[in-house]
Amino acid sequence: MRSGRMKTGRLYSCAICVLLCAVLTVLAAPLSIRAAQASPTGTGATATTRAWAHDAAGVSVPSRTWYLAEGCTAQGFETWVLVQNPGAEAANVKLTYMTGKAVSAGPSFALAPSSRKTVNVSETLPDAAEVSTLVESDNPVVVERAMYGSARRWATDAAGVTEPGTDWYLAEGSTGTGFETWVLVQNPGVATANVTLTYMTDKGERAGPSFKLSPFTRKTINVADAVPGAWSVSTRVQSSSPLVVERAMYGDGRTWAHASGAVREPATAWDLAEGSTAGGNQTWVLVQNPQTQKALVELTYMTPKGPVQGQAAWLAPHSRQTFFASDVVPDAWEVSTHVKSNRPVVVERAMYGAGRQWATGAAGVTEPGTDWYLAEGSTGVGFETWVLVQNPGASTASVTLTFMTDEGMRDGLSFKLPPFTRKTLNVADTVPGAWSVSTRVRSSCPVVVERAVYGDRRSTVEELTLMKGNAFETAAYVLTSGGGSTGAPTLMVIGGVHGDEDAGYRSAEKLTRALVSKGRLVLVPRANRPAIAAHTRYLNKDLNRCFPGVAGGANEDRLAWEIMELARTSDIDLLLNLHSADQFNLLDPSALGQTIVLDDAAIVGAADKAAAQANLSIGDPVERFASLVKPIPTSATYEVYYRQGKPAYGIEACTKLGLDRECLDELLVIKAFADQLGVVVDNWDELLR
Ligand SMILES: [Zn+2]
Repeated sequence: MRSGRMKTGRLYSCAICVLLCAVLTVLAAPLSIRAAQASPTGTGATATTRAWAHDAAGVSVPSRTWYLAEGCTAQGFETWVLVQNPGAEAANVKLTYMTGKAVSAGPSFALAPSSRKTVNVSETLPDAAEVSTLVESDNPVVVERAMYGSARRWATDAAGVTEPGTDWYLAEGSTGTGFETWVLVQNPGVATANVTLTYMTDKGERAGPSFKLSPFTRKTINVADAVPGAWSVSTRVQSSSPLVVERAMYGDGRTWAHASGAVREPATAWDLAEGSTAGGNQTWVLVQNPQTQKALVELTYMTPKGPVQGQAAWLAPHSRQTFFASDVVPDAWEVSTHVKSNRPVVVERAMYGAGRQWATGAAGVTEPGTDWYLAEGSTGVGFETWVLVQNPGASTASVTLTFMTDEGMRDGLSFKLPPFTRKTLNVADTVPGAWSVSTRVRSSCPVVVERAVYGDRRSTVEELTLMKGNAFETAAYVLTSGGGSTGAPTLMVIGGVHGDEDAGYRSAEKLTRALVSKGRLVLVPRANRPAIAAHTRYLNKDLNRCFPGVAGGANEDRLAWEIMELARTSDIDLLLNLHSADQFNLLDPSALGQTIVLDDAAIVGAADKAAAQANLSIGDPVERFASLVKPIPTSATYEVYYRQGKPAYGIEACTKLGLDRECLDELLVIKAFADQLGVVVDNWDELLR
């Protein structure tokens, strides 16, 4: 693995946001229309593959201090801290990280009014197994944390906590087959804390661990250590001095995850804005009774059509119970839940979708409000963001949304929400193509607000070394889609076979940043490194006359053989070999500029098609691509085609266009072949810039 690859994906996206937004305003329009027609929590046509999801309830009171117990930047985990400034004045924000071993300063920055900023924790602390975060600001802000893992196979999100406490509740938890539940305890204070965990199952109370937690440290507790094999586990955390507590859950070999901050106080009324029981979505309502007496719990579901009476049950003291929304409201795309109890209880919601490809979880809200903030949100490529508004009251609410991006504020929709109903809004309808979006929701009467985000998996990058230890040593990259499906189409691209043809290795190098969501890319960007360094066609022998090469041979002969072997062992479906020529073929038929060169007329169809697609983006007829049948024995394409039986093409750009245009045109042709093959790259917009 090439370290850092997965962690940087979102970051450079942010940096290039300004340009990308302009491109995506055009491109995203059809996507958002499609997404809007689909159900928000459904599995129908959407803007992403929904490989992961995360959600969180809104925050109603901005604060100057925020704590985030969970965080990890090791083993491919990504941790992002999202700070929203909803105020009218700039906020000076400072992050401090606690790893258990040390306290280290994170970034400090000024956050403009009505804007949001995204912080990648790994920029300061790469490879930290446990990181808690303290966010301090001179003006009130809203803070959330998003985490991703396994090349974005799963994601979690939770709003921060504004005040440490000595008594915390976590309704959700399971240690049944395929489930992991972790409780994360952060001590942000200067005193050592004496901490005790108590678990509540459907069979009653079980003792958990007791331990001392040093100042500025955090501890992670695996619930299964004390209660293995329990399908329903709630947790209570008590401490001698104030702590911050969260819970993370993973399932089915970490194909999904969800997380939630702990709840400080049980209550007799709870609202859960998010929920869906249609299209294979599952919604579970989890109720923890921490009282010494039994509690009568009654559920009411709210759909766009109005309220439906749900389950009612007596919960034994110190126990927890799980309610399945589908038992009462099956096939409902949009469901909110109200939970009422005669004694204070703790309520969370867990959702699963697409055969548990993704999951989300969030604690309920005890007090509907008229002003809500959602720090997290993105409508960039591979992200969907939905805002869910529930009206649990008896009067119609007039609701207005405002979005805050790193380019400032944008007005969102205004609408009326009848009593006991819920509405779902696609953020991309208003702010498409924005990598960072925070939301403010204002209402004429109290409502409950949540946000759900869905997204694509990241591709993984494997780095290989050809000609190891030799002067011709060079890197190869295998980019595999997050899906990792077998039999996925594989496209191989070689650049720099000729050291004085710069566009080829630059284009191939650019492709190492591709986010592959289907299939594989095998890249050898700088095939002949010594020739590139000398900026000459070749040093000893022309590499493109050395194929199939010689195993154990010298220099270019062995290099050619290793490239052939890479193609063979990667089981490629198509090879593209990038070159440059100094004249347009259309002006001089003996020149190769702007041609797709092939060794056998039998495979000209795909080349004609690729040329036609690329030419849609090339204005001047002289600069357009044409296919050219020109067999060259001992070239890479010829030998791959005749020895391995795989289609292979040379792409010859014309140096008269200048380096940037050459690269762009080569990438247009590569994209056209990738499209034919079914290799899907999510960020062509960025690569083709
Ligand atoms: Zn060449």
